[in-house]
Amino acid sequence: MRLVRLEEELREETGAWGAPGTTLGFVPTMGALHRGHISLVQRARVECDRVVVSVFVNPTQFGPGEDLQRYPRNLERDCGLLESEGADLVFAPEPGTIYPEGFSTFVEVAGLTSGLCGASRPGHFRGVTTVCCVLFRMIEPDRSYFGEKDFQQLVVVRRMVSDLRLGTEIVACPTVREPDGLAMSSRNSYLSPEERRQAPLIHRGLSRAAEAAREGCTDLDEVKGCFMETVSEGGLLSVSYLEAVDPSTLESRSLSEGRPLRLLTAVYAGKTRLIDNVELVPPASLRRSRC
Ligand code: AMP
Repeated sequence: MRLVRLEEELREETGAWGAPGTTLGFVPTMGALHRGHISLVQRARVECDRVVVSVFVNPTQFGPGEDLQRYPRNLERDCGLLESEGADLVFAPEPGTIYPEGFSTFVEVAGLTSGLCGASRPGHFRGVTTVCCVLFRMIEPDRSYFGEKDFQQLVVVRRMVSDLRLGTEIVACPTVREPDGLAMSSRNSYLSPEERRQAPLIHRGLSRAAEAAREGCTDLDEVKGCFMETVSEGGLLSVSYLEAVDPSTLESRSLSEGRPLRLLTAVYAGKTRLIDNVELVPPASLRRSRC
C-alpha cells in the first residue's frame, strides 16, 4: 500500500493500473477511521480490483464555529488499518492540493440540501459535493462507497453524480454500530462518559419508531412520538430535527401511502451533534393496498 499526498503522485499511481477492465473502488473519508469506514473498504475490496481511500478533513464542509480544528486526526493509525484491509492506495492531500490558490468553483445540489442537516449546517453540503466532485475527477473511480449513516449526503452525492455525469457508481453501505446500537462516528470520541451512556437512546428510539410503523401505525406523529419519548428518557439529549422523508427525494411523505420512508434525525449530546436514521417499512397489508 502506498500513501500519496500530491495529485501528480496519485495520477501516476492510478495511471499505472490502466489495464482494460481493471475496476477501481474509492472510499472517501475524513480519517479517524473506525469499523464503519472499514466496512466500506472491505466492500470495495471484494467488488473492485483496486481500492483507493482518501483521508482528508475537508475545510469547506465545516461551518464557522464547527469542529474543523479539533476534528480527530491520526493518519499513521489510519494507514496501518488500511494496509491490513488490503487498500492499494491512500490519498491524503493537504488542503492546498484540493483547493489551490484561486480555486473558486463550487458544486451545489439544489433542493435536496435545503432541509434536514442542510437547514442547520448552511454550506455543509456545498463543501461535501465540491470535494467529492474534485476527488472523483482526480481518481476516476468506477465505484464509490458511501455509508447510509450519512443518509442525506448519500442521496445528495448520488444526485450530483447523476446530474454531472461523473461516471462513478455510488454504492450505499449499511450503518455499522457499537454493540449498544450507537452508530459509529469519529465524533463519538467527543462524548463525555454520561453523554456516551445516553447516546444509544438515539438508535433505540429510531428502532421503536420503525417497529411502530412495521406494526401498522400510519400516524407519523405517533411514530415520531416513540422516538421522542425514548431519547428524552436520559434527560441529556436534545433533538435538532426528526423527519420522515421519501428515501430518494427527501420530501416529506405520509406512511399511509404504503411506501417505505426514511426517518432521519440529528441529536445533540451536549455540544456534539450525532446523526442517525432508520427505514420505516409499513406492513405488507398497507403496501398491497397501494397496488
Ligand atoms: P467521514 O469520515 O465521517 O466523512 O465518513 C466517510 C464515509 O464513511 C462516509 O461515506 C460515511 O457515511 C461512512 N461512515 C461513517 N460512519 C459510518 C458507519 N457507522 N457505518 C457505515 N458507514 C459510515
